[in-house]
Amino acid sequence: LSGAALQSILAIGLDALARNYRTLAARAAPAACGAVVKADAYGLGVGPVAHALYRAGCRAFFVATLAEAQAFRREADLPLAVELVALNGIAAADAPAALAANVVPALNALDDVLAWNAAAGRLGRRVRCALHIDTGMNRLGLDADAVAKLGDDAALTAGLEIALVISHLACAEETANPLNREQRQRFETLRRRLPRARASLANSSGIFLGPDFHYDLVRPGVALYGVNPLTNDLNPMEEVINIKGKIVQVRNVDRGGSVGYGATHLVARPARIATVAAGYADGYPRSLSNRGHGYLGGTRVPLVGRVSMDLTTFDVTDADPALAHPGNTIDLIGNGAAIDDVAAQAGTIAYELLTRLGRRYARVYTGQAG
Ligand SMILES: *Cc1c(COP(=O)(O)O)cnc(C)c1O
Repeated sequence: LSGAALQSILAIGLDALARNYRTLAARAAPAACGAVVKADAYGLGVGPVAHALYRAGCRAFFVATLAEAQAFRREADLPLAVELVALNGIAAADAPAALAANVVPALNALDDVLAWNAAAGRLGRRVRCALHIDTGMNRLGLDADAVAKLGDDAALTAGLEIALVISHLACAEETANPLNREQRQRFETLRRRLPRARASLANSSGIFLGPDFHYDLVRPGVALYGVNPLTNDLNPMEEVINIKGKIVQVRNVDRGGSVGYGATHLVARPARIATVAAGYADGYPRSLSNRGHGYLGGTRVPLVGRVSMDLTTFDVTDADPALAHPGNTIDLIGNGAAIDDVAAQAGTIAYELLTRLGRRYARVYTGQAG
C-alpha cells in the first residue's frame, strides 16, 4: 500500500447539505434563512459549502472574523453583493479592508459603534453594520445601557446603515429552558430602542423554538452540517459527513497481549486488531480511547487501546474477515457512527468534532460540483 491507499477519507455530501438548508429554510419561512459558515464552514471548507448553500437559495452568510470573510470572498466565488456578516466584529482601523470584502461588521460594544461611526465620517460614506445585543448570555454584545445610549442619541449612529439587529440564544437546544423566553423578551424590548432594522435571533436550535423566534432572518450553523439541533428528539437533519478510517494493518494478538500506548487494553481472547490511519492529530478525539467504536461493513467494532496521534486500533474479531483487511475502511463518523453519539462518547459536542477535523484526510465532496 502507498499514497492514497494509506489515507483516510472525509466525504462531505453537498446534496445533503443543500437539503438540510431547504429543510431549515422551510421551517423558518416566511423569515429568510442565512447560513453560518464561520471556522471554515465548521471545518468542512467554506468554498464548496458556501457555493452549495448559495445554489440552494441562501443569500446571507455569517463568519466570525475579517480573515474568514476574506477567505469566503476568495474561495466561494459568489457575487460580491451576497450579504456577509462578521460576528466577532472587525476593528474600525480595518474598515477599508472590510469595505473591499463587502463584509458587515457586527458591532458588539458601544466603543465599536463609536469607532465605526467615526470611521464612516473619515471615509465620507455610510457604512453597513449589524448591531449585536447581549440579551442574557453575557458573552458578547451591547448591554442595555449601551442600547439606551444609542437610542437616545441618533448622532452616535448617523454614519451607519444598520443592516441587522441580532442577539444570540444561550440555551436554544433546551426547549423548556425559561431563558429562551427571557432572551426573546429582552430582544423585543431592546431592539425597539434602536433604529429600525431587520432582526435575527435564532441559531439552528432556535429555529425549532417556533415562529416567535424567527424574526426576519435565522442563522443556522451546525444543523446544516447534519448535527441534531434537538436534544431529546430524532435528528431531523440529514448526515453530511462520513469519515472512513483507512485500515493500514490487521494483526492477530494472542490472549493477554496488549494494544497501544500505555498497554491499556489487554485482549481477553485471541483477537484481530485493525489499525486505522487517523488519530488525534486528525481531530479524532483521544478521549475515545478504550470507549469509542467504529463500523466495519455495518458491524460495530470497539475501539481498543489509546487513540494515538496518527493511528487508532479497533478489535475486528467479530467483523467479516473478508472485510478486515488493509485498504478497506472503518466508518469513524457517519454511516452508523452518528456524529452526535461519537461526540457524546468523547465527552464533547459535535461542533468541536467538526471544527477540529484535521487536514490529512482525502477530502471528497460528493453531490453537486463545487
Ligand atoms: C455560531 C453562531 C450561530 C450558529 O449557531 P449553531 O448553533 O451552529 O446553529 C448563530 N449565531 C451566532 C452569533 C453564532 O456565534
